[in-house]
Parts: sequence; C-alpha cells; structure tokens
Amino acid sequence: LVRLRSRLSRSQNALGRGLLTLLSRDHLDEDDWEEVEDTLITADVGVAATTEIVERLRERTRVLGTRDPSELRALLAEELIAAIGADADRSLHTAPHEDRPAVLLMVGVNGVGKTTTCGKVARVLVADGRTVLLGAADTFRAAAADQLQTWGERVGAETVRGPEGADPASVAFDAVRQGIAAKVDTVLVDTAGRLQNKVGLMDELGKVKRVIEKNGPVDETLLVLDATTGQNGLLQARVFTEVVDVTGVVLTKLDGTAKGGIVISVQRELGIPVKLIGLGEGPDDLAPFEPAAFVDALLG
Ligand code: GDP
Repeated sequence: LVRLRSRLSRSQNALGRGLLTLLSRDHLDEDDWEEVEDTLITADVGVAATTEIVERLRERTRVLGTRDPSELRALLAEELIAAIGADADRSLHTAPHEDRPAVLLMVGVNGVGKTTTCGKVARVLVADGRTVLLGAADTFRAAAADQLQTWGERVGAETVRGPEGADPASVAFDAVRQGIAAKVDTVLVDTAGRLQNKVGLMDELGKVKRVIEKNGPVDETLLVLDATTGQNGLLQARVFTEVVDVTGVVLTKLDGTAKGGIVISVQRELGIPVKLIGLGEGPDDLAPFEPAAFVDALLG
C-alpha cells in the first residue's frame, strides 16, 4: 500500500488531496462545486461520471453537515469506489486446464505497454510456482520479439517466436501448441497493435484468436491501455472491444500521470473491469486492481 501510494503520488496530489481540500471548505458555493467538477474532469474521470459524483457529493455533504476531514474522506472514498464499480469481477484466469495451459492474449495500441505487461504477468506467475510460455505474435517489429524474449529470460519463461514478418496467427498457434506439449501452466501471447489500418487489425486479431481457439477457448483477452493517453486512449480502446471479446483492462503508466480518474471512465465507457494496473517499468511494478486500495492511495 505504501508503494501504491508513492506510485500514485501525482494523481494523489491532483485528485485526492484536491478534492479533500475543496470539500473541507467552510461554505461550499457554486464556484467551489465547479472547482470540484474541474478537478474530477482534469483527472480524466469523464463528464458523465463527474456530474453524477458531484451531485451525490453535494447531497451527501449537505446531509452530513460536517467538515470533519475523516468523515469527508470516508464519504468521498465511498463515492469514488462506487463510481469505479465495487462489485465487478476482477479475478484473472491464469490457472491451467486439465489438458492444456490457460491462454492469455494481450491486445492494445503500440506503445501502451503490452510487452512489458506480458513480462510482469509472467513474473508474478513464475514467482507463484507456475510455468509460463511467452508467444511473440507481434511479428511486425523484430525488436518486439527481442524485447519479449528479454523479459522471458529475466523472469524465467521460454519465448516462442517466428521470423520477422511471420504470420502472427501462426506464431500464436505454435506458442499454444508448444505450451500444450511442454505442459506449461500458462501461455501469454503478445500481439501487435497497429491502428493505422483498422480493418487489417481486426482481421489479424480475429485470426490470432480463432487460430488459438482451435485448441480451446482463450481464457483472458486483456486490453492494455496507457493511462496517460486519457479520453483519446479510450476511443482507440473501443476499436479493440469491437474486434475481440475483451475480458479485462490493464491500465498502465499510472505512475506517470495525474489522471488516475481514468479508472472510472474505463469502467463506464467500456463496461470492462480493470483487472491490473501498471505502476512503473520494472518487473514488480504490476498490481491487481482493487478499488478500495486504489482510492485509499488516491486520497493519501
Ligand atoms: P507495447 O508496444 O504495447 O508492447 O509497449 P511496451 O511494453 O514496449 O512499452 C512501451 C513503453 O512503456 C516502454 O518504455 C515501457 O517500459 C513503458 N511502460 C510500460 N508499462 C509501464 C508502466 O506501468 N509505467 C511506466 N512508467 N512505463 C511503462
């Protein structure tokens, strides 16, 4: 939790402390409430969610009738947790099946942190005593496969890769087949995310998934989203949700942004639970997303 706090310090300063300071004022007039609204919108909470949160805060602080900081903090925490979605299923399905590994597919735009997230997830699983195989289905850039392999070596996972420019679906297929043969627990498949050509991407991702599923359903399709790209990133994300059945979102780079409110937008705009958060570039900078702990860290 200490770590979560320190990694979220930018959002904490901009959002959590900002809101607490505003709400602690003696008399909150229209201008103050507008400031509350601005604070939420600046942190990427999204307009619709902001309007609702502010309405509820206005009503509840009025009823509460106190400026006691700890009571205000509790109230604010409750509202933020509710806005994030307290009861979504955020569990990650990584356990092997009887006759085959669990398969996780990582999708998202270039540069959002897919390869890094594969490495970090592998690290967590290996530390947990699982065997992991990485599939480098981003065959567009040779560097992408190198990067994944480097992660594999770092955390103790083999990497299956094809020649540069190989068919991503065939690499994904090979990875799963080798995973079955070697009886590994989990296969993590990294994909390319070129958005220049939406139709091409749809075809490619659809094919990757179909080919993998010749051996059984994909257990998780994780959409990786860069928290620093804000509402624009959400628009791009929607394209992916149209192509594949996304089961969870990984929100990366929360350490580098004051826009932690994006977790609320994701839930609302995409209707997909955030399951993991990225808090840095290192192997241990990944955490399961827990709304209560997250909000607690935000409020400092
Ligand atoms: P990909 O193209 O989607 O596979 O993205 P990469 O995994 O190559 O990541 C792109 C850049 O973002 C790299 O420099 C990563 O180190 C960095 N990155 C990934 N996740 C995080 C994170 O949670 N926090 C920070 N600060 N950087 C990250």
